[in-house]
Amino acid sequence: MYDAIIVGARCAGSPAAMLLARDGHKVLVIDKATFPSDTLSTHFITSEGVKSLADWGLLDRVMATGCPPLPDSKIVWGGVEMPPISDPVYTPICPRRTVLDHILVEAAREAGAEIREAFSLDDLLWEAGAVVGIRGHGRDGQPLEERATIVVGADGRNSRVAEKTAAPQYNVFPSATCGYYSYWSDFEGPGMEVYVQDGYGIFTFKTNDGLTCSGIEWPKARFEEARKDIEGSMMATFDRIPGMGERARKAKRVDQYYGVAGADSYYRKPYGPGWALAGDAGYHKDPLLGQGITDAFRDATMLSAALHAGFSGQAPLEEALAGYEKARNEATVMIYQVTNLITANLNPDSNIVRMISTQMEQMASAPV
Ligand SMILES: Cc1cc2nc3c(=O)[nH]c(=O)nc-3n(C[C@H](O)[C@H](O)[C@H](O)COP(=O)(O)OP(=O)(O)OC[C@H]3O[C@@H](n4cnc5c(N)ncnc54)[C@H](O)[C@@H]3O)c2cc1C
Repeated sequence: MYDAIIVGARCAGSPAAMLLARDGHKVLVIDKATFPSDTLSTHFITSEGVKSLADWGLLDRVMATGCPPLPDSKIVWGGVEMPPISDPVYTPICPRRTVLDHILVEAAREAGAEIREAFSLDDLLWEAGAVVGIRGHGRDGQPLEERATIVVGADGRNSRVAEKTAAPQYNVFPSATCGYYSYWSDFEGPGMEVYVQDGYGIFTFKTNDGLTCSGIEWPKARFEEARKDIEGSMMATFDRIPGMGERARKAKRVDQYYGVAGADSYYRKPYGPGWALAGDAGYHKDPLLGQGITDAFRDATMLSAALHAGFSGQAPLEEALAGYEKARNEATVMIYQVTNLITANLNPDSNIVRMISTQMEQMASAPV
């Protein structure tokens, strides 16, 4: 019998497990993946996310992998250049998920959480209307049951925990974009570039191994056309920024193109009897603004604190989890609206640019 079983061991799951285990709770984490491994995601981390890594004592490990800080940025929304977003203390970074997620998993293991890799959740166990555990299987295919006070779905946007609990969705916004990204060596330019205007969004981030992660988002209707000639579509869009097409052609692409056709944005009620949700399982938005990892880290911190309060009798568990939902929504509502407004046509007008500017100023001055 565990205090918590956490399904999913990446940005939300492993930190939540680490924090609960550090508070003395008995935690099992399962993931169908093994680590280190990649996942479909670029990996820009905001100053708030970098601060989480520092607070957990993990930032030095991430930086030791050779992932460069990104103090120099060029950000253009709707033709208007924004002030750089770099934070002098918690400078944004963009570590490969192969590196980042492995560090998170090992930190959870070191804290005392039991990690079961290559183990898939099949179903939840219920008693008297409450979740009491999981049924899953490992490589041998044999069904296995485990029980816990709470089962946490940190299993991404196709969350099986959310599906099996029928977690109610709200503020749904239909997916509006598609895109591709890849990795280049010798891609000249600042640590980070973002251009969102005239129906496209371009980003570049310096990452591990001297590489640059770069990608482009277009309105969703362009996906089939872009898929027929990914390289040509990418280069034609890079050419919209003076000098960028030349820089991209001079660079050497060292990986395949990874494509996404977009997924709806939503909030889900992140708790119920015997279950809770964290990260993309509970709240998902278009990746354009690079907030998902930061949001998953914040969820891990807030959810583990709520569970600790409930487990240790400091507060009724349901009350603590209601506080988690409220705090999650308050922390994200503005950026969610801004993201939806921008991705609706990738052509922010002056009103939206003003909102983004205000949001960025608030984020820069917020006590992270
Ligand atoms: C193209 C793209 C680009 C992005 N770029 C950025 C960016 O630059 N910056 C940023 O902050 N965010 C970005 N995001 C968003 C970011 O990837 C997510 O917000 C983040 O990964 C959420 O973390 P998570 O732990 O909630 O879920 P995930 O990272 O999705 O992890 C879920 C885990 O659950 C496991 N799992 C799922 N189902 C089961 C099951 N049944 N049994 C066992 N295990 C299971 C999976 O194997 C996986 O390891 C991007 C997303 C996409 C798609």
